[in-house]
Amino acid sequence: MKQVYMDNGSASPVDARVIEAMMPYFNMDVGNPSSLHSAGRKAKRELESAREAVAKLAGAASSKCITFTSCATESNNLALRGAALRYKDKGNHIITTSIEHMSVINTVKDLQRSGFEVTYIPVGRDGLVDPERIKNAITEKTILISVMYANGEIGTVQPIREIGAIASDKKILFHVDGTAAVGKVPVNVEEEHIDLLTISSNDMGGPKGAGALYIKQGVRLMPFMLGGGQEAGMRSGSENIPGIVGMGKAADIAGKEMAEEGARLIRMRDRLIDNILKTEYTYITGHRTKRLPGNASFRFSFIEGESIILQLNDMGITASTGSACSSKTLEPSHVLIATGLRHEEAHGSLLLTLGRTNTEEDVDYVIQCVPEVAARLRRLSPLYPNR
Ligand code: PMP
Repeated sequence: MKQVYMDNGSASPVDARVIEAMMPYFNMDVGNPSSLHSAGRKAKRELESAREAVAKLAGAASSKCITFTSCATESNNLALRGAALRYKDKGNHIITTSIEHMSVINTVKDLQRSGFEVTYIPVGRDGLVDPERIKNAITEKTILISVMYANGEIGTVQPIREIGAIASDKKILFHVDGTAAVGKVPVNVEEEHIDLLTISSNDMGGPKGAGALYIKQGVRLMPFMLGGGQEAGMRSGSENIPGIVGMGKAADIAGKEMAEEGARLIRMRDRLIDNILKTEYTYITGHRTKRLPGNASFRFSFIEGESIILQLNDMGITASTGSACSSKTLEPSHVLIATGLRHEEAHGSLLLTLGRTNTEEDVDYVIQCVPEVAARLRRLSPLYPNR
């Protein structure tokens, strides 16, 4: 049976060129970058060249602005906790949105328990945040605005430049969770007035176990990993050199190939969307065009996303019914609910995320199978009106 992997949003294969770049650092070039000998100095050079590559991809003025972490979740924690605690004497108000990843939502909830006030800006049906609503929520106590660049579950890409201009005008720190976007769409911290940017390795073809936070020069954070003072004191702990080298290589490749690969993914994405939407009672989730190149997300009335996934799985197709982080809870996704869907509507979601390994033949197979599965499940659904 044909096998199609279309769950790149949950996990994507590490690029072979990345694996090749990482290999020597497991058992040959094993120096610690803090050591003075040549092996240590080589590790330090590799660390700094990965930092350069990540800085370049984010449009950062200097590689000194990049702090390596262990994952996007850690970067989000460092940005939000670090800024809130460092600037708490200036104010205690944080603005974020109702569709952030749980690593943002749970961190700001925790800050709320220790006295911070949080405003969650709602989104429209297409998942877009209106910059005016952010502007109107700002008070003299606001110290931080956090908005994700793009949502991995519904694909919507936010008007970050506009929000950044508002934050910069009001001199409020602006954190952007760039996990789903960096390496997929052009991101430029300077032009988009971003003060703190979360960058993921595994979401751009690099290995898990590495991540980064861009911290604009002059912005101070309260670190929470204390120890030997690595990463300019922002994140202590021996650096994961193989992981960081891999992340640097992935950043380098993404920067060079983004335009071409993005165009290829958009072609396949739009073919998935245009064809799957021909199925009756089927709707797109997220914005039709302001969306990630590889993201095609839908909802089907009268049937459950879990049943769709399992039936597709039996046909050799690996897909998802929403965020990998919440899909085990059986609770409808907070993102879909925030876009105004009722619980029963949110339960019928299907998320197809394309990646480097996907081909047009994969798309052909998926657009043949999905309507078949929907029709089969609807024949069994007591809710379906045309049985
Ligand atoms: N932010 C966003 C927008 C995400 O989609 C994810 C999941 N890939 C994360 C943060 C957390 O990433 P990780 O689980 O790799 O820390």
